[in-house]
Amino acid sequence: MLSDPEKRREYDAEQQMLRMGGGYGYAGTGGGGGGGARGGQGFGDFGDIFSMFGGGGGGGGRRGGQARSGPRRGQDLEVEVTLAFDQAMSGAEVPVTLERHEACGTCAGSGAKPGSTSRLCTTCDGRGSVTHDVGGFSIPEECPSCGGQGTVVEDPCSDCYGRGTRTVERRIRVRIPAGAKDGTRIKLKGKGGAGMRGGPAGDLHVITRVMPSPLFKRKGDDLTIEVPVTFAEAALGAKVEVPTLDGRVAITVPAGSQDGRTLRVPGKGAPKLDGSGNGSLLAKIKLTIPSSLSDEQQEALKAFSELDTSDPRARLFS
Ligand SMILES: [Zn+2]
Ligand SMILES: [Zn+2]
Repeated sequence: MLSDPEKRREYDAEQQMLRMGGGYGYAGTGGGGGGGARGGQGFGDFGDIFSMFGGGGGGGGRRGGQARSGPRRGQDLEVEVTLAFDQAMSGAEVPVTLERHEACGTCAGSGAKPGSTSRLCTTCDGRGSVTHDVGGFSIPEECPSCGGQGTVVEDPCSDCYGRGTRTVERRIRVRIPAGAKDGTRIKLKGKGGAGMRGGPAGDLHVITRVMPSPLFKRKGDDLTIEVPVTFAEAALGAKVEVPTLDGRVAITVPAGSQDGRTLRVPGKGAPKLDGSGNGSLLAKIKLTIPSSLSDEQQEALKAFSELDTSDPRARLFS
């Protein structure tokens, strides 16, 4: 599946990154899931614009414009993955498709055709920005000649049109730790877009969406489940079996349990994201009444009723 050695390296790096980031040691498999990329925000652009405004005195012209042609951090990307409830509980490895900037392999990110060089942009004198007078205000603008780079390439790389980066669609596999919640953010440092002019790569943020379970509801690290019991089981007490994430567990319903009573089973809840064990399973008793009775059952219940001297409505009239 990962025959391409470069892909394999990238995959390994990702796994390492995740382990470093969260210390999740789950080694499970799991298909399904998957997600598509959502374009990231170019934080670098905002930063540059603000620094340009901040540096200028409104007097038009000269600014210390080195920032624009310095290293620029790559895009941060954000991607959502949708997981089945079971996948979120066990942890999963899901494929994610994203579009990100990567350094152009042909020119090694320089933007210049191999063998050619770049020179200082004469339009902006290497500052990367030019100013426009609008109603007496001096508004900096990206230099149209060099696109804000400060340098122009004599002979641009034909594969990236001189940009130094290319937008590449990548399918990567992301390991989701056991216990991921709806809305959990996993940061994969350096897995966003490639930086420009030697800047660091951006980050990839993976956000998990978890589909509901027909049986369990999540409450922090606890799982709740509704457990139907008969009147006789609740009144007499009983041992009943309850499903768990990995099988079933027998719980003791104490004699005299009321409807809605919650019994806690420690360690059978959701896995904690930090790997420190599981929460509890909260089994909530739901009293069920038979919708029909045989003649014999009716006789038995009538006999019971005649012996029953309790008054469940006493406190309504006290
Ligand atoms: Zn190139
Ligand atoms: Zn320029």
